[in-house]
Amino acid sequence: MADSLPTLLLAEHDDASLNPVTARALTAAKALGAPVHVLVVGENARAAAEAAAKLDGVAEVLLADAPAYAHRLAEPVAALGVALAKEYGAVVAPSTAVWKSVMPRIAALLDVMQVSDVIAVVAPDTFDRPIYAGNAIQRVRATDGKKVLTIRTASFAATGEATGVSSAPIRAVEPAGTAAGSSFVGEEIAASARPELTAARIIVSGGRAVGSAENFHAVIEPLADALGAAVGASRAAVDAGYAPNDWQVGQTGKVVAPDLYIALGISGAIQHLAGMKDSKVIVAVNKDEEAPIFQVADFGIVGDLFEVVPALKTEIAKAK
Ligand code: FAD
Repeated sequence: MADSLPTLLLAEHDDASLNPVTARALTAAKALGAPVHVLVVGENARAAAEAAAKLDGVAEVLLADAPAYAHRLAEPVAALGVALAKEYGAVVAPSTAVWKSVMPRIAALLDVMQVSDVIAVVAPDTFDRPIYAGNAIQRVRATDGKKVLTIRTASFAATGEATGVSSAPIRAVEPAGTAAGSSFVGEEIAASARPELTAARIIVSGGRAVGSAENFHAVIEPLADALGAAVGASRAAVDAGYAPNDWQVGQTGKVVAPDLYIALGISGAIQHLAGMKDSKVIVAVNKDEEAPIFQVADFGIVGDLFEVVPALKTEIAKAK
């Protein structure tokens, strides 16, 4: 029976290390109630596999290590996922750019329905997922024998490393199929000493009110650095060229749930809230006391960000 088969979790990693979203997706995978195997697919990815093997509740790690899997192009990785899926009751992956590209192919090739952006596992076949930019939660029951799920990792706590037990075994799996279609041309990755937005514990985010790229640099970034935080931005700030695209938080940006989210000069449009309202503590600074951001904020300061941020920085420096 499909339900008794183990769950296959597809790891997000960069070959050298495991992305923290994998440990969050693992929490969701374990909630399905079956043993969880983690697939690490890439080139020279043993280090990521070893990190996955240490996570609590991982029964086995499958390592598919081959040049064909460098950059995790959708076609070869989907072919591998389909070949492996025979042995699994569910295939689960975090909702990241890589897996958003691969998982629909796996679902289509298996001829099953994908359930995207799962935020809660209600039962092994029943899941909650946001719709209308998070304004409504849809509960869906997947009746397919095999489940294909992508996980909104911000909604799940990370599984920690197992203590007192040896790591899960790592089994090498043979490449399956050589599906072509796309080829890797190149990538430009913004280098930053700051934490990655989706993994950061603290995010300092600026909106249109920041007014310029120079102000982001002079006002927002120093506060983030004082807190060891990542920098985020509203779409209005990104569209105006004040902040790069990969800083955008929201419905069409990144979905984050840090311990602390500081929103500076952000009105709190629903599309922005869709990306950050699950943050544990939200602090908002806005000149307008009617701004919708205050409805989700745990702490609100009605004031000018250009006065409040330097004052905050001074207090942080004193506390250090
Ligand atoms: P504004 O709404 O202009 O708000 C600026 C705020 O700053 C105001 O509340 C103002 O009171 C305050 N302010 C002004 N001066 C100061 C000051 N000196 N100090 C303190 N406060 C001050 N938006 C996103 O953010 N992310 C998304 O992913 C996203 N996706 C979208 C998808 C779709 C399909 C659509 C239609 C829209 C999307 N948007 C998204 C846009 C969204 O609707 C808002 O337009 C946007 O979030 C507004 O950005 P903002 O809050 O920075 O700007």
